[in-house]
Amino acid sequence: MSVATIIDGKAVAARVRGEVAAGVSALVAETGAPPGLATVLVGEDPASAIYIANKQKASAEVGIEGRDHRLAADVSQDEVAELLGSLNEDPAVSGILLQLPVPAHLDGDALTALIDPGKDVDGLTPLSAGALAQGRPGLRPCTPSGVIELLDAYDVSLEGAEAVVVGRSLLVGRPLVFLLLERNATVTVCHSRTRELPAVCARADVLVAAVGSPRLLGADAVRPGAAVIDVGINRLEDGLVGDVDFEAASQRAGLITPVPGGVGPMTIACLLRNTLQAARAAHAAARVPGIGS
Ligand code: NDP
Repeated sequence: MSVATIIDGKAVAARVRGEVAAGVSALVAETGAPPGLATVLVGEDPASAIYIANKQKASAEVGIEGRDHRLAADVSQDEVAELLGSLNEDPAVSGILLQLPVPAHLDGDALTALIDPGKDVDGLTPLSAGALAQGRPGLRPCTPSGVIELLDAYDVSLEGAEAVVVGRSLLVGRPLVFLLLERNATVTVCHSRTRELPAVCARADVLVAAVGSPRLLGADAVRPGAAVIDVGINRLEDGLVGDVDFEAASQRAGLITPVPGGVGPMTIACLLRNTLQAARAAHAAARVPGIGS
């Protein structure tokens, strides 16, 4: 039985980060100003604090100027909204990231919606989501973009391919559906009410799992030779595992991502790329009379 090629997400992410670093240097040479990424963290959730620290560190490494805003856990909705408003107005800020989830007394969706779509480097505002759904230009969500980048890096043809996405969240599954459609894949979306999940998955040339259920998908969900992308991150006593049973699935797949080291590194790389894209667009708009400031 064949054993799958393991997709090296760290290597692909390093290549993307290198491209962003080169793009940042070129932009600085042209404009004199680096892109700026403002992160907003409300409260002291340790996992969120680690995510923010990683994003700030990765930004600094490619020459993006970081602004690390920390707000107390009991901050009001209005105070967060005020900060987001001032970041929207600040020309030194190219991208704004509100780390989710926010504490329960705040409305994370309403706060996210306040972010200027031109600075929405997470691609999660309703305007960015609408632009993606309608096939119009805009900033795309980072994790789904990372999935597409991995497939491209390994020359997986999406044109006409059967793609099955398990999970329909606003963060991952749903935007990924539109990115795959944009590439002319034939897309099936599965979720918690899907019947015969393994049989539906086994139709896929490209199978993406974004569920949050450890080793949900086994060998019977994998078509021989398929490309399997595992977005899931599940913490078990013996470490991190994905939504795919890696040992079993890698005996049938043609390509497969490990967890960790697959999709995870791509998310931050795509965030950096989005920040550069936002900075370039802001600079271009500022040069056209009547557009931007
Ligand atoms: P959500 O909980 O928001 O969504 C999970 C989706 O999975 C839902 O659509 C749900 O269906 C579906 N689902 C749940 N149980 C089943 C089941 N038994 N069979 C089929 N579908 C099911 O999760 P996210 O999309 O935010 O995240 C998914 C996973 O990806 C998590 O493990 C998360 O940690 C990871 N993640 C990894 C990232 C990375 O950088 N690698 C970034 C973001 C997320 P329904 O809609 O019917 O409830």
